[in-house]
Amino acid sequence: MIEFDGIQFNDLISGRVMDALAEHDPSLAELGHDQVPNRVSRPLFMSAIAQINGLPFLPKCAEFCESELLDACDPALLTRGGFTPLCIHGERLIVAISNPWSSLPDEYLPPRFPDLQIDKVVTLSSEISRAIERGSTMAGPNRSQLESINVEDMEDGLQDFDVTSEYEEPIAQLAATILATATKLRASDIHFKVEKESFYYSFRIDGDLGEKFEIPMKLKDRIDAFFLNLMKLATETRNTVPGISGRFTISYYHRPIDIRYERHRTYRGYHITMRLLDKSHINVKLGKGSLAFDDETLFEIERVMRIPAGIIVMSGPTGSGKSTTLNAMLRELNRPDVNILTLENPVEDEIAGVTHCDLKSPAEFKPMITSFMRSDPDIILMGEVRDKESAELAIEAAVTGHKVLTTIHTPRASQIIERFEQLGIERWKIAQTLKAACAQRLIKVLCCECKTPQKGINESDRRTFNLGEEWADVSLFSPRAGGCSECRQTGYSGRTAILEIIPITPRVSDQLSKGEISPYDLEMMVLKDGSLPNLRRSGLRLLADGQTDLQAISKTIDMTYSDE
Ligand SMILES: [Zn+2]
Repeated sequence: MIEFDGIQFNDLISGRVMDALAEHDPSLAELGHDQVPNRVSRPLFMSAIAQINGLPFLPKCAEFCESELLDACDPALLTRGGFTPLCIHGERLIVAISNPWSSLPDEYLPPRFPDLQIDKVVTLSSEISRAIERGSTMAGPNRSQLESINVEDMEDGLQDFDVTSEYEEPIAQLAATILATATKLRASDIHFKVEKESFYYSFRIDGDLGEKFEIPMKLKDRIDAFFLNLMKLATETRNTVPGISGRFTISYYHRPIDIRYERHRTYRGYHITMRLLDKSHINVKLGKGSLAFDDETLFEIERVMRIPAGIIVMSGPTGSGKSTTLNAMLRELNRPDVNILTLENPVEDEIAGVTHCDLKSPAEFKPMITSFMRSDPDIILMGEVRDKESAELAIEAAVTGHKVLTTIHTPRASQIIERFEQLGIERWKIAQTLKAACAQRLIKVLCCECKTPQKGINESDRRTFNLGEEWADVSLFSPRAGGCSECRQTGYSGRTAILEIIPITPRVSDQLSKGEISPYDLEMMVLKDGSLPNLRRSGLRLLADGQTDLQAISKTIDMTYSDE
């Protein structure tokens, strides 16, 4: 069975896809079904899908889409259904589809375009989104419109901000355009920064901060006030308090996206960071998409999840996808007979059957969890252990027989124990309740449309990163300079997670409590064991699989030392 872009194809169709691929390139006939997603490019795969359905394949078609046709349709439905009308040719309506087996286009389009016969062409799902997004007029105000804004008048009171609507007020239109663009580009954060002579915004995409887009300096207070008004926060405090935090929701083609807002007062004005919590992306499963771990890692995750009581901690820097993995674990643990409670700030991913609680302030933590415990939970997800109080409460819950999933800020898994100690928890207490110490990173994945083959790793890199002779002539891939349109000229497209897991077995727990081994010794033991997933090993496996390059790995994890 082939699985591609989240769609599973049954054995019959998978077999026909393999035949069509082999016809194109006989060497592909040797591929196993599970190798297809990594080895076959999206255009090639979709052309095989088109071929077995007897339909034409058009890799690029967004440019042909006539926007008047989109006016008759609901963009949200088209996005969900993965199809879009392109143009009218005589008596025929040409429709781009990404799933030939869906009957939705045949049900939805005829009533809107009577008397036209529907002709389908297969394209990439990214082309369909591009066509729909292009068709909707989201140009935003231009520079001269922005310059002409009167800084005196101000409209306020927007609560749920639909960024795909048109706004009369230019500041609202500018904000909507920036937020919609960020969502479209799948940015994780938007920064607004006032410097001595410039005011600009930029997006963080796949971990990298991108280009700076200048905004006229005179608009800095208007934009600032616009967002504060949106969250109903007092604008008067902005020059007195050092930091302001808030949250609001935007609607992007009827898809709600939570924004976490942080504003710091700076010497020249302010620095605003907005984190986009796009729920459609975090709804990922273990073993799939960005959490497509190798079998060894999946096996260890399964084992960790079966631990009846105790603490499972995921560590890593901000933006390493810790909570995505914990939420995916929670989804697997979610059964009708278990009572799961979460305590988060904010709730990132709502799961049916799970009781989610939203922390409004750190002060709510203790009363919340105390009242929590009365509802007899089996599993508790605690957003983050950040202070002594939350650390103590996690331990308390574990001691009383609960399974606790949480995150903590430390670079390496073995440092979790020391971090608890720094927070004022005795070594023996954490040694006896911690069941698994994990660390996660996200590694950039090479764009599969333009990655270029590369022969081996040169000697200087082998020495810097402690790689053996065997790396001298393996077949690898590197990003193409200048990339392609699929990867926005970066050479990379998306990220994938790698994990390090240290299980705290009863013996290890005993040795740690008695002080016979240090957390560092523990890390060394795990490395020598050789079978447990570790960051360096997982990174190198991605490299050997041709999914990433050495630069992307060494930027994220420290590769300059090796204990193997
Ligand atoms: Zn590319």
